[in-house]
Amino acid sequence: MEISFLVQGSSQEPYKVVFRRAEAGLSAFCNCPAGDNGQACKHRLSILNGDVKGIVSNNTQEVTTLLSWLVGTNVEMALRAVESAELQLEQAKIAVTKAKKSLGAAMRGKAE
Ligand SMILES: [Zn+2]
Repeated sequence: MEISFLVQGSSQEPYKVVFRRAEAGLSAFCNCPAGDNGQACKHRLSILNGDVKGIVSNNTQEVTTLLSWLVGTNVEMALRAVESAELQLEQAKIAVTKAKKSLGAAMRGKAE
């Protein structure tokens, strides 16, 4: 089974994003430069996150079907790993800001 979407990216022509469901799980392709390069491009990522904003083909309702295909696949596990790493990154940024504030206070001879 296959579902494809046209997604408006940075180039004039929309990119074609294709999702295939097979016994082995889910595969996803996009013909943007990053996708051609084997990277996880934002076009597939946003659709897999349920975001329909970039879709210019008139089948946005098929995203619901796609999300049901995602459940329990390696793609879903990898997607959650990216989300978790991004969350850790955000938390690390907050920790760095706090630590620098304490450093600034310590440098002024104040305990915090
Ligand atoms: Zn792409």
